[in-house]
Amino acid sequence: MDFELLHPADQLVLMMDRIYRGGLTTTSGGNLSILDDNGDIWITPSGIDKGTLTRHDMCCVKPDGTVLGPHKPSVELPFHATVYKKRPDLRAVLHAHPPAMVAFSLARVLPNTRLVANAWRTLGNITMADYAVPGSQKLGDNIAAEFEKGYDIVVMENHGVVIGASDLFHAFMKFETLETTANLEIYARSLGEPKTLQENDVNLTATRDHLTMDEFVPNKHSSEECAARRDMIKLIRRSYRQHLFVSTQGTYSVRLSDGSFIITPYGLDRDYMEESDLVLIKNGMKEQGKIPSRSVKLHQKIYEKHPEIHSVLGANPPHAMAFAVTDAPFDPRTIPESYIMLRQIEKVPFTSIYLKQDEVAAMFSPRTPVLICDNNQILATGDSLLNAFDRLEVTEATAHSILLAQSIGPVVHITPDEVTDIDVAFHLTD
Ligand SMILES: [Zn+2]
Repeated sequence: MDFELLHPADQLVLMMDRIYRGGLTTTSGGNLSILDDNGDIWITPSGIDKGTLTRHDMCCVKPDGTVLGPHKPSVELPFHATVYKKRPDLRAVLHAHPPAMVAFSLARVLPNTRLVANAWRTLGNITMADYAVPGSQKLGDNIAAEFEKGYDIVVMENHGVVIGASDLFHAFMKFETLETTANLEIYARSLGEPKTLQENDVNLTATRDHLTMDEFVPNKHSSEECAARRDMIKLIRRSYRQHLFVSTQGTYSVRLSDGSFIITPYGLDRDYMEESDLVLIKNGMKEQGKIPSRSVKLHQKIYEKHPEIHSVLGANPPHAMAFAVTDAPFDPRTIPESYIMLRQIEKVPFTSIYLKQDEVAAMFSPRTPVLICDNNQILATGDSLLNAFDRLEVTEATAHSILLAQSIGPVVHITPDEVTDIDVAFHLTD
């Protein structure tokens, strides 16, 4: 999808629909705007059902204050306009009341954006603006004062969040990543004190492997490759809908029979990914003109060490990640299905993903098909794409249940004798 060719009114419809469908705002809450090259502010209307907005509902506010369109502009127009005045580099402003961020705004505490490297890179530093009446110039001034200091993400006391970016799509990526990281912190706190990444740790993620690989020009695409691309896109979209991926995070790869593999690209929004965006990796080289995921070398090493593994998945599903950002062990011996799918999950220190990739790759076995990488990701492997997806989904569902159980009582695990019975019944001999 070429976002630059989408008219501002259509961008507003697309993103408001995505925010509403994602449960990230209510019918009456939240507003978006775009500043175009003429100096016009395109903004969502006031008091119109967010579930049924069309491009004709959008308002265009001219620089002299004239409003074009059938509705009144959002009551929050004053803060949108003030933010653009203070920060000429920003061309889109997103405001909403997503539940986890509202929780932080009620407690008047900023979420920790340094629990996961992806969130730290995407969000940077964030701040909080003083409370003021919605729609008032005072609220606009409070928010704009924080943007003027250079912040792009401002939490509003007892209200919600405002995010500014160079375009609406990047504003959404920050918004969704922020809400995900806020949820993650809330889940993690039910297990223990979350562990914060340090500057040195995040510097390790600045790997250039994915950029500097040699390139090759594919001369044809086999039927097997086309099928793999098609199936990957289906499952990438499904992973997004199931909240296993977010727009900025989630890596899939699938090995083909000639030893090459296909992997998700670096940086693209997972919800809009298409078959042609995926990157073929062959003999350590990348398909010409494309940039693979930063995890490309790690996936390659896993395939090299394990002929039985045909698919690798890396993701940040929020319940499972609660175990990655705390010292709480993840024991899958909860319900038999979780044990059968996940067996014995191991944890890997954050730095190993970058400094000890051979050792990490060697940790996978039939007994350990899933690894939890501290403050980084859940890595799931499988003998097929669906098998790896299933394992990721079961990991997240199991984590969710363990977290829900925290308020009920201590989790009782299946006993070693009961595990032996399952091993025999399901032929889990290795
Ligand atoms: Zn609001």
